[in-house]
Amino acid sequence: MELSDFLLRYTKGFGIDVLRYFLFAGGAFLIFYVLFKNTFSRFKIQQKFPELLHYKREIGYSFLSMLIFSFVGTCVYFLHKAGYTKIYTEINAHSTTYFIFSVIAFIVAHDTYFYWSHRLIHHKSIYPYVHLIHHKSYNPSPWATFAFHPLEAIVQVAILPIMVFILPLHPLAIFIWSMYQLTLNVGGHLGFEFFRSGFTQRLYSRWSNTSTHHNMHHKFVNCNYGLYFNIWDSVMGTNHPKYHEEFENGVKRRQALKNNTQAEGL
Ligand SMILES: [Zn+2]
Ligand SMILES: [Zn+2]
Repeated sequence: MELSDFLLRYTKGFGIDVLRYFLFAGGAFLIFYVLFKNTFSRFKIQQKFPELLHYKREIGYSFLSMLIFSFVGTCVYFLHKAGYTKIYTEINAHSTTYFIFSVIAFIVAHDTYFYWSHRLIHHKSIYPYVHLIHHKSYNPSPWATFAFHPLEAIVQVAILPIMVFILPLHPLAIFIWSMYQLTLNVGGHLGFEFFRSGFTQRLYSRWSNTSTHHNMHHKFVNCNYGLYFNIWDSVMGTNHPKYHEEFENGVKRRQALKNNTQAEGL
């Protein structure tokens, strides 16, 4: 491997990461914080909007994180080229059923990895040096999606090299996982809640986390550690005691605001 090959791939990977960040986090910001701010204001979880300095910090640290993410992604690519990973490029090497399984397994493994590594970086001896930066966004915006201290960015991206050494994965499966994690992370930091009453308690939906769930993590800190699913928080008893109540209060508040607006319009 030539250094120039590595740098070219790294630059491309970083460019794609930045593009996706601006499309997803920037797109969400443009829609909910700028263009349709008033239309959606009743869905806002914390009523106030963050100050400009928070957006700047979130974007700055997200850029640092993406430099690390794409560096690790480039290393994984060249490790694969050298034959060290379990990545397979011939799609027919495994069945379609296996392909679907591998995507789901990656997502479930990531959810577990995230929950436990997240709890670890909340330990008081680690938290100030690794995770505090992310929690400076106590009222997060979509820009906070990748706003990590560089040490935390390493912890976050480590799931990728771990998985490619354990599980045979097609690049398309890795791509689907990466889009899933980006979408759900932007959703978790959106600052707006759209799910309906009962979502956090109904049998068919309570396994899923909500934007309120992660917003409460940023606001109250030592609770709601999960990423995609509300499984580990339920098993370990780490959901905020008022999670369901806060969620329902949000639903009631937006209903009341809607009724007020309609009454004013009459
Ligand atoms: Zn967060
Ligand atoms: Zn945290």
